[in-house]
Order: sequence, then C-alpha cells, then structure tokens
Amino acid sequence: MPKRTFEVVIPDYKYWRQNIKCQTGCPVNTDSRGYVRAISQGDYEKAYWIARLPNPLASICGRICGAPCELACRRGGIDASVSIRALKRFVTERYGAEVYQEKKEFTERFKEIFKKEGTGIEGIAKDTSRPISIVGAGPAGLACAHELALMGYRPVIYEMEKVAGGMCALGIPPYRLPREILQAEIDAIKALGVEIRLGTMIGRDISLRELYDNSASVLLAVGAKKSRILEMPGSNSKGVYGGVDFLKKVALGEEVEIGPSVVVIGGGNVAYDVARTAIRQKGVESVTLVCIEKYEEMLADKIEIEEGEEEGIQRINSFGPQRINADINGTVESVTFIKCISVFDSEGKFNPRFDESETLDIAADTVFFAIGQAFDLSFLDNVDLPIERTERGMIKVGPDGVSTSVAGLFVAGDLAHGPRLVIDAVASGKKAAMAIHEYISGRKLKLSITEAHTEEYAGEVSDNEVQHPEDYEKIKRRPVPTLPPEERKKDVRTVVEKGYTEDMAEEQGSRCLNCKVNTIFNGDRCILCGGCADVCPEYCLRLVSLESIRCDETLLSLYKNRYGKDPYGSGSAIIKDDERCIRCGLCAKRCPVNAITMERFIFKEVYVDE
Ligand code: SF4
Ligand code: SF4
Repeated sequence: MPKRTFEVVIPDYKYWRQNIKCQTGCPVNTDSRGYVRAISQGDYEKAYWIARLPNPLASICGRICGAPCELACRRGGIDASVSIRALKRFVTERYGAEVYQEKKEFTERFKEIFKKEGTGIEGIAKDTSRPISIVGAGPAGLACAHELALMGYRPVIYEMEKVAGGMCALGIPPYRLPREILQAEIDAIKALGVEIRLGTMIGRDISLRELYDNSASVLLAVGAKKSRILEMPGSNSKGVYGGVDFLKKVALGEEVEIGPSVVVIGGGNVAYDVARTAIRQKGVESVTLVCIEKYEEMLADKIEIEEGEEEGIQRINSFGPQRINADINGTVESVTFIKCISVFDSEGKFNPRFDESETLDIAADTVFFAIGQAFDLSFLDNVDLPIERTERGMIKVGPDGVSTSVAGLFVAGDLAHGPRLVIDAVASGKKAAMAIHEYISGRKLKLSITEAHTEEYAGEVSDNEVQHPEDYEKIKRRPVPTLPPEERKKDVRTVVEKGYTEDMAEEQGSRCLNCKVNTIFNGDRCILCGGCADVCPEYCLRLVSLESIRCDETLLSLYKNRYGKDPYGSGSAIIKDDERCIRCGLCAKRCPVNAITMERFIFKEVYVDE
C-alpha cells in the first residue's frame, strides 16, 4: 500500500483569518463568531453592534439571509452549523433600528461605535460639492448610499417604484420579512443623510445623461425584477403569470384573483415564495410546485421546502412543462409536463434532457412561472454615454466588479453579478462606495492590518482554559420555533418564525467553537511524546514521520534555515488538521512541557490612503 502523505503549510495571517470560517463566508465579513459568543455570554447589545457594523441591513438579514456563514461554519463539518442567522435576528429585534422611535438616535449611536470599531471610512469624503446619484433603492443601492453618507458624501437614490427596498419590498413575502423592519432600516439609512426620491424613473422622469452630468458619480443598482415566462404552446393563455409580478402585486396590496388550483413552475426560493404566497390567498385550494430538478438538486433552501410542505404545497420533482392547455376562451385548464431525465450534462452545465414518452397532466386555474428573473434595461436605450454592453445586452463590468466603460459610472448588485443573495448585493454596494470614493478623491485606499496572538482576552483564554460551557460539543442545533401551519396561512403578513427565546439563544450561541482561538505549538519545547495526539477527541493531531510530509517552498526554506538540511530524512513531527478542531484545549492541558498554548487571534483591518 502506498504510504500516506500530508500537505503541510505554515499558518500566516491569511490562514488565521480564513480559519474563522463564518467570517470568511460572509460577503461583508461579519464577525458572526463575535456576536454568537456575545449572545452566549448574555451581552446582547455588544452582539448587535458586532452584527450591525459591517451590515446596514442587519435586521433584514436576521430574518431572511441565505446565511453563507452557516454553510461555511466549522461546526457544520462536525454535526450541524451554528444557527447564526436566527441568532442575529434574536439581537436585532432587541437593539436594531426597529426598536428606536427616533432613527437619528440610532444613527448617532451607530456612528459613535463605528468610530471606535469600524473600518475607518467615516468622514473621508473629499469633494462633496455635487451629489452622488444612485439608481435603485434595493439592498445594493441602500448599502452604497449608507457607506457614502458615512464617508460624508451626499447620496441621492432614485427609485422608480412607490416604495424603497427593491426585492426586499416587492419580492420577499411579508410572512418572512415584516415590512416595519424593512422600513426601519431604510429610515435609519435616511437619518444618516441619504435622500430617496421615490416614483422617479430614469429614462422617463430624468435621463441618465442628465444625471451623469449633474452628479459627482452615478451608481446603477437596479435589480432583476422582471418575471421570465418560458415560451411554449399556451404560455400566453389567461391565468398564466410571472411569479415575481404576482409577488409584487401582493406586496403592494393590489387585488389578485387566483386559483382554486394553482401550479407553480420552478424549484428555487422564489418559486417557494410564490407557492407559499399563493396558498395564503382567498379561494386557493391547492398549490402544486413542479420542477425539473430532483429533490437533492433543488436550489430552494431545505427549510423553505419543509415549511412549504407543512403548509400543504405539493411538490413534484423531475418534470418540466411541455405545453399549457387552455379552454375555448383561452383560459388555462391544465399543464402538460414531461419527465426530466437529467438537468446537468457531464460537465456540470445546465442542459436538461427529457423523456417525452412519460407525461403528466395537472389541472390548473392559475399557472406561475418562477424560473428566474430578467432585467429591464430600457433606460439605457439611446443614452448618450459610451456604455459598453456584452453580447447578451448586459453592462460590461470591469475586473473590480463594479466599474463600467464610462468613468464615474458604476454598477452594483444584480447588475454587477446577476441575481444572488441580499447580502451579496449589500457587499457589492459597499464595494461600489469605495470605488466611487476613489474615483472622486483620486486616491486609492488600502487595508491596514494589525494582528496579534494572545493568551489573554477578557478571561476567555488563559492558562490554557478555553471558556466553553460543559458538554458544548454535545449541544444539538435547535430549529427556530414557528407558528403552526394553519395559523401561518391566515394571511400573508403573519410572520412564520417566532424566533429563539433567551434560553434557546444563549444555548445555541454556546455551540460556537470559537474559531478565533488557535492551538499554537512551540517546537523548541516539544519532546514529541505524542500526548496531545492521544488526548485529542477529534483526532486532529498526528505524530508522523518527516518522510510523509509534503511542504511548500516557505516551509522548506524555514526548515533548511533552522536545521541546515532538507526535512525528508528520518525524524518525526506533530501535524494538525484544523478542520475538525473544536478548541477544547485538552491538548494544551495534556502537554507535559507547555509546548501548546490556546491563543486568541486578534486582528483589525482599517482603510487608509495608499
Ligand atoms: S464554530 Fe463559531 S467561530 Fe467557528 S465557524 Fe462556526 S460560528 Fe464561526
Ligand atoms: S483543541 Fe487540541 S485536543 Fe481539542 S480538538 Fe483541537 S487539537 Fe484536538
């Protein structure tokens, strides 16, 4: 049998930084570890501000974030990730903008804390003589405006709809995101000095050229809000609608008449939003969701599928629509589906294959397509600006992800990267704000980093003791309590999730492994007894022969400098696989020569002129 080998790296700043997986996984770099642990220690206000500092839409994200931090969380590889999103909600509902009557008071508190703990961008504006125009008041536009206002600029958002918030206002159903919370965060952003002009459409009320000429810079942050309907026989029948159009009507409180039998075509989160909104409408008796993907391939979050099922949504996998059948008046009667054999080809590309001999007819009075969204870029038609477009008509985006072919004209959110999570749009808006500042000021910004490893930090780590509650590694992830399905379906505004109680939140917070704490090994002291490897409950540590080690150039030259030879002769080393480490500290306690210490990695990143 070939001998097992191990790739070994020497940890550096990047390594320690990426070791805090929840933070690396968050597009805006939220220190989830920090707030989750603060909750476990009962310090909810501290937890809130940790969550809020990098994220102007923290309360919204506490309700609806797709939580890439949870996908990244190290505990997920051990049993189940920490319930980071639900814990964020727990603190936002206690300290978020929504609990302040006076939003000015909230923003003053925010600015005070940002000054001490933030990224150093407050007050860095250079030329504020002209406003910065932002097209679109969705998450990207709002986030960009927030950052620019913090810097000291004068952002003005132009929004074509009657309400701000983009898809948060018009797409995400109120049973997931109460509109008071959305409005509170928008009001807090306005209180920071952002102006929002609602019902103002670029290309109709004001031309893009005019905006460009009268602004220090322009950001296009319009979302993909147009429904896509598959062209097929019968797709223009009465009773066939775009799912996003339906969500928008419901969100704006407009009359909708659908059902009694509803079919939703699509398998993502929007399809579930449509299906679950439909089942809450008067007169609807059945909702069937049909998608080409198998259950495991579906893009919808598993919690959406589960909650949808609890509410009575019937799901049919591996079928795609072939035609829509209408009566003599042109009104939909049923949909014919054909079996989908595979969705992706051998290279993993979307390329569905069907078996037309296996069909399925489903009776329907209403059919919704929820198969993705498209952009309406008609406001760019005949604009007297050299905006380069791609072959598919999208705006060409520069390598920085936000610039365009026109100096001073930027894009963010869906326009920059296609439809993604709300938090991706927030990150993109923040990035655009930095680029706009660099453009206006003519100065580049860079991150200035300070870092340290310490054994002492507010009692969390000392004498090799890491503070975890007893049996923290055995605490199970708890689902967030929800209303019973029958109560939820009463109307579209009844919020499904009840949220954690204090006891639950503190318990769930204590599941965090505290990945900021690392095992630091002192090779000068180590006597290679292997005691740490014996005691480790997760089998992270190994005593291996030097022959089995494969190292990169840095490690090789470090070894040579120290020992004057290649590391491939006889000898042994202790190596560690950090992935499964639960920061229990047992190895450090066991070590007879104090060669291992549990040290907290502290770092701060602030922006400074390059
Ligand atoms: S265990 Fe805690 S620190 Fe580690 S990734 Fe998960 S939330 Fe973050
Ligand atoms: S702290 Fe040490 S003993 Fe505990 S899991 Fe990590 S490597 Fe193993």
